[in-house]
Amino acid sequence: MDKEMKCFGCGAIIQSENEKHIGYVPKSAVNHENVLCQRCFQLKNYHKLQESHMSKDDFLKILQTIGEKNCLVVYMIDLFDFNGSLIQGLMRHISYNDVLVLANKRDILPKSVKEKKLEHWVRRQLKEEGIKPIDVIITSGKKNMNLDMIYNAIMDYRKGRDVYVVGATNVGKSTFINALLKHYAQVEDQHLITVSEFPGTTLNFIEIPLDEQSYLFDTPGIINNSQMTHFLKQKDLQKIIPQSELRPMVYQLNSDQTLYFGGLGRIDYISGEQASFIAYFSKHLKIHRTKTIKANELYNRHQALQYEIEGIDNIHCMKAYEFKIPNGKCDIVISGLGFITINSQGGKVRVYAPPKISVMIREAII
Ligand code: GDP
Repeated sequence: MDKEMKCFGCGAIIQSENEKHIGYVPKSAVNHENVLCQRCFQLKNYHKLQESHMSKDDFLKILQTIGEKNCLVVYMIDLFDFNGSLIQGLMRHISYNDVLVLANKRDILPKSVKEKKLEHWVRRQLKEEGIKPIDVIITSGKKNMNLDMIYNAIMDYRKGRDVYVVGATNVGKSTFINALLKHYAQVEDQHLITVSEFPGTTLNFIEIPLDEQSYLFDTPGIINNSQMTHFLKQKDLQKIIPQSELRPMVYQLNSDQTLYFGGLGRIDYISGEQASFIAYFSKHLKIHRTKTIKANELYNRHQALQYEIEGIDNIHCMKAYEFKIPNGKCDIVISGLGFITINSQGGKVRVYAPPKISVMIREAII
């Protein structure tokens, strides 16, 4: 190959030497204009993911590169998996450049929740993480929500500087960039960058000119290893990532009762007065209610609880967490899987989730 070519799906530099490295395209396929690397090709046509060869160090280098620039950082987070989609130490790595936060996948949360309420909630959560954004915009890349507002905010806040879009894998960065391109650059479908439900699909910086001197750069997604999406089989992943508005499922629980979320998580109400547990999970994930005393037995009946994780065939392989719940409303989050809003007079719960998956208690989002 004489000229350096980039994959129009992920931006990786095209090469035909090493099949295991990013940007690989068989020699015979390099001869046309818009080349898609083998990885993106498989993803686009067969929804099949090839392993990513980017390490955490590579991602840190990317953030440091951004830290060396005077730029605007657009930081995308996922409203459905807020903590799972945070990049640890982001502000430090990017040397406290201006950050515009886009809180994505708003369409998954119930329509009845006001945008302002979500925005304030996001601001409070960010404050706890030490992030002071220049602005927060609630959005849904899928529904083009607030796209003009975002575009104008980027153009306004960047003050002539370059823009870097960062985010953990799966937050919807590619979908958003494609929506931007579609609206503001009249880009035809076949040129759009790769979008998929599998984590880690964007491999290199993709540059989109903003004017004569400056660019918007799309960066690779940073893999957050505590995300549920890394532990599931591809066919299951497509089902447990909610694609549409969550339908809250309300349960009045007494102590010593248990809810199972498929085979992937469980909550036991250990003690407390009768309380309402509102579950926000993908509608493809069946919720089972049972007495805690019978719950272990139910887990081992595999037909009843679908979506298993390899190596976890017994409830004792899961990690258990205990939380004291406050008087009033709170959320218990199983990162990437869903959350349960508990409205109670106080009490105690135990949560089971696969090891490595973060489980936490937070201020209720809804
Ligand atoms: P990336 O890894 O951050 O580039 O994320 P993608 O754009 O590839 O999206 C990851 C998954 O989230 C895909 O299944 C998308 O369909 C889905 N997704 C992206 N944006 C939205 C959104 O605004 N709402 C919903 N419900 N899903 C989204």
